[in-house]
Amino acid sequence: MHETLSAMDVAGRIPRARERFADAGVAGLLVTRLPNVRYLTGFTGSAAMLLITASDALLVTDGRYKDQSAEQIAASGAPARVEVGTTQTRQSEILREAAAGIDRLGLEAHGVTWAQQRAFGDWFPGAELVATEHLVEDLRMVKDPGEVARVQAACAIADDALTDVLPMLRDQPSERDFALRLEFAMRERGASAVSFDPIVASGPNGAKPHARPSDRKIAPNELVVIDFGCIVDGYCSDMTRTVSVGDPGPDARRLWDTVLLSQQAGRNAVAIGVECAAVDKACRDVIDDAGWGEEFVHGTGHGVGLEIHEDPRVAASASGTLATGHVVTVEPGVYLPGVGGVRIEDTVVVTADGPVALTEFPKDLVL
Ligand code: ZN
Ligand code: ZN
Repeated sequence: MHETLSAMDVAGRIPRARERFADAGVAGLLVTRLPNVRYLTGFTGSAAMLLITASDALLVTDGRYKDQSAEQIAASGAPARVEVGTTQTRQSEILREAAAGIDRLGLEAHGVTWAQQRAFGDWFPGAELVATEHLVEDLRMVKDPGEVARVQAACAIADDALTDVLPMLRDQPSERDFALRLEFAMRERGASAVSFDPIVASGPNGAKPHARPSDRKIAPNELVVIDFGCIVDGYCSDMTRTVSVGDPGPDARRLWDTVLLSQQAGRNAVAIGVECAAVDKACRDVIDDAGWGEEFVHGTGHGVGLEIHEDPRVAASASGTLATGHVVTVEPGVYLPGVGGVRIEDTVVVTADGPVALTEFPKDLVL
């Protein structure tokens, strides 16, 4: 389906990564986090390393991906070449040769295991290994129009899938059955996968923000938290709605109304130049005022893109500032142990004209 989506600017990404080398204090970067490899080259396989130097970009993969890597890099236009090493020893030789003369080689501190770090010491004997943080992730925060189109397509599929399956709640399915139907409906509409295992948490289960769908039957007149998303051409969507089949009663309604107001306040706060922490505060103030501040137990949101949770974080402790092309969630929630919970979440893109919600499913409590 993504033939119909607008093109992404993959070719410009390796040069932009290079522009960050001086600040990071490196002459080259070994990219090992696969979402970053994909971002920089278009390669979607499960095994690859990308070495970027001032004059070279070399993707090293194994024999399984010989054709795929060549095809995907040709299609993306990324200025990178490919070499295949069928053994790890061969791959290390290829990379060592390409890194010759690099005095300070950056590694991705959040992606390299201890074992890898020890191995890389042997692979690159002439280089000082330097920990870099968020070098590629910072670039990934700003989505180009093609990336936004992919997130939007994933959001549209999620909206459509929920429209299709929500009436099934009246039949009192188990949480697990409902989650499965939702997943099927998204894949049926062209999603390549779910972006995470759907959360379907009914009644008291809703008090756990990341409850796993159980065999519990979803009853009428109780809150059901549904948090789910899918993937289109690598890009994720994320949305939460909290609903009830029939009136859940005044206490639940007050809880739901408060979270909705909080979510609207957070969405309205999203704008270019606004600190992520301020968006969190906008949500948190509404819930604090209602007396449930202690029960809003997580950050307000997160970036969404090639990963379901990525930068920028939207939380009280976050240091980032929103910019054009950032895609973030706004998802306040209140969780009352033994009673239940409410969370409402949209995926939002920051534009010059203000925040635009990519998830558009209506917010109605009662089904
Ligand atoms: Zn979510
Ligand atoms: Zn989320």
